[in-house]
Amino acid sequence: GPALLFAKTSQGKEEGRRFYACSACRDRKDCNFFQWEDEKVSETRLAAREEYNRNHQPPFTHRQNVERYKSFVLLPLSKRRFCQKCQQLLLPAEWEEHSDHQFLCDITTTQLKSPSQLLYPLENKKTNAQYLFADRSCQFLLNLLINLGFRRVLSVGTPRLHEMIQSRASQEEEFSVRSLLLDIDFRYSQFYTEDEFCHYNMFNHHFFGGEAARETCRKFLYEENGERVIMVTDPPFGGLVEALASSFKKLMAMWKETEEEGHDNKEMPMFWIFPYFFESRILDFFPSFSMMDYQVDYDNHALYKHGKTGRRQSPVRIFTNLAPNMIVLPEEEGYRFCSVCQRYVSSGNQHCEICNSCTSKDGRQWKHCVLCKKCVKPSWSHCNNCNCCTLQKHSCEKTDVGCFVCGKAGHKRSACPSLS
Ligand code: SAH
Ligand code: ZN
Ligand code: ZN
Ligand code: ZN
Ligand code: ZN
Repeated sequence: GPALLFAKTSQGKEEGRRFYACSACRDRKDCNFFQWEDEKVSETRLAAREEYNRNHQPPFTHRQNVERYKSFVLLPLSKRRFCQKCQQLLLPAEWEEHSDHQFLCDITTTQLKSPSQLLYPLENKKTNAQYLFADRSCQFLLNLLINLGFRRVLSVGTPRLHEMIQSRASQEEEFSVRSLLLDIDFRYSQFYTEDEFCHYNMFNHHFFGGEAARETCRKFLYEENGERVIMVTDPPFGGLVEALASSFKKLMAMWKETEEEGHDNKEMPMFWIFPYFFESRILDFFPSFSMMDYQVDYDNHALYKHGKTGRRQSPVRIFTNLAPNMIVLPEEEGYRFCSVCQRYVSSGNQHCEICNSCTSKDGRQWKHCVLCKKCVKPSWSHCNNCNCCTLQKHSCEKTDVGCFVCGKAGHKRSACPSLS
C-alpha cells in the first residue's frame, strides 16, 4: 500500500528533504523502498517497481486459499500436510514440489482451528513482531468483552483473540460473539474466509483486497440487532504511534458512518494494547483514552511473563475509551478497586494522597517527590542539577528534545531504553 512521508527532525525542527519509505517495514533490509518527496520518478524506475511488486505477490490469492482449504478439510487425516518451510497447507499433488522441505503430517481439525499455533510467529522485531497472548490474557480479554456486552470484535493484529472467538463459536451453540481479523500476515488467509479475515496494513489503513474487503469491514462494523462492536488491537511496539492513530481514526470513522444518526458523539469502543511508556503519546492522539493497570502477558516473549512467576513483569497495558470503572480486573491476580480513582489498580499501586491518584505505571509502588510535585519510580531520586527525579546514575547533560517513545531527553527513539 501507500508509503509514508517521513521527515528528519532535530531540536524539534524539520531538517532537509522529506522522503517516502515503506509504512510497514521499518528496517531497510525488509523493504528498500525509498523516494525523495520532490524526486521526479522516471518511467523506467516506475516500471521496475511495478515489476518488482508483481513478482513479490503471495503464491495464491485469498480466494484460491479459501478453495484450497475446502479441499484440504475433505482429505483423510493421513493426507493432510503442512509445509513448515513455506508455511503452507499442501494438497497431495503438491507434495512432490516440497519433498525436501520439513512438513507436519496428520493435521487435525483442532490444529486448523488454531493457526497461530501451527504457523511460526514472525519475530522480525521491526516488521512483524508477532507476540502471541498467553492463554490467560486472551481468556481474560474475551471474558471482559463478553461481560461488557459486546458481540462483535474487530481484531486488528490480534490473531489469537480472533482464533479463540472463532473456535468457541464453532464449538458452543450459545456462543454468539463474532470476530473479523485484520492483519498484514497473509498466511492467515489459508484458514479464514473473506468474511473472517482481511489482509490489512494498520500503518496506512490499506486493505489489500480493495473495495470488496473494505465493504466486508464496513458491514461488520454495522451494528445490527443491537450487536455492539468493539475494536481490539495489539500493534507491533516499534510501530509509529502517529501512523497507527491515523489508521485507527479511519476505522473509527468507518464505524461512525455505518449508523444513520452517526452514533451521536460517541466513539467506537476500543482496546489498544501497548506498553505503558507510550501512555502520553497515545493520549496525545486519543484524549478520551485511559490506561488500565492490567498486565498483558505473552507466550513467546520471555521478558513479558507475569510477575507472579518470579519473572519480570509485563510492561504491556490496555488503553481504552470505555469508562475505567467498567473494566473489572481479576482480584485473584491481586488487582483491587480504588474507590477514589474509580478503577481497578494493581496490588502494588498505592493511592497517593498528594496526587490524589493511584500513580504507579509499572505495578511497583511509586514514591512521591515534593520537588517534582509528582510520584516517581521507586528507583529514582531527585537530582538538583537536572531539577527532576531520575536514576541515581545518570549524566546531568541535557538536550532539549525528548525521545518520541518515553519523552525523556538524552536519547532518540531508536535507542530508547524502554524498548530494548
Ligand atoms: N498478541 C496478539 C498478536 C500481536 S503481535 C495475539 O496474540 O493475537 C502483532 C500483530 O500485528 C501480528 O499478528 C502481526 O502480523 C500484525 N502486524 C504487524 N504489522 C502489521 C501491519 N503493518 N498491519 C497489520 N497488522 C500488522
Ligand atoms: Zn515447502
Ligand atoms: Zn486511587
Ligand atoms: Zn504522588
Ligand atoms: Zn523529584
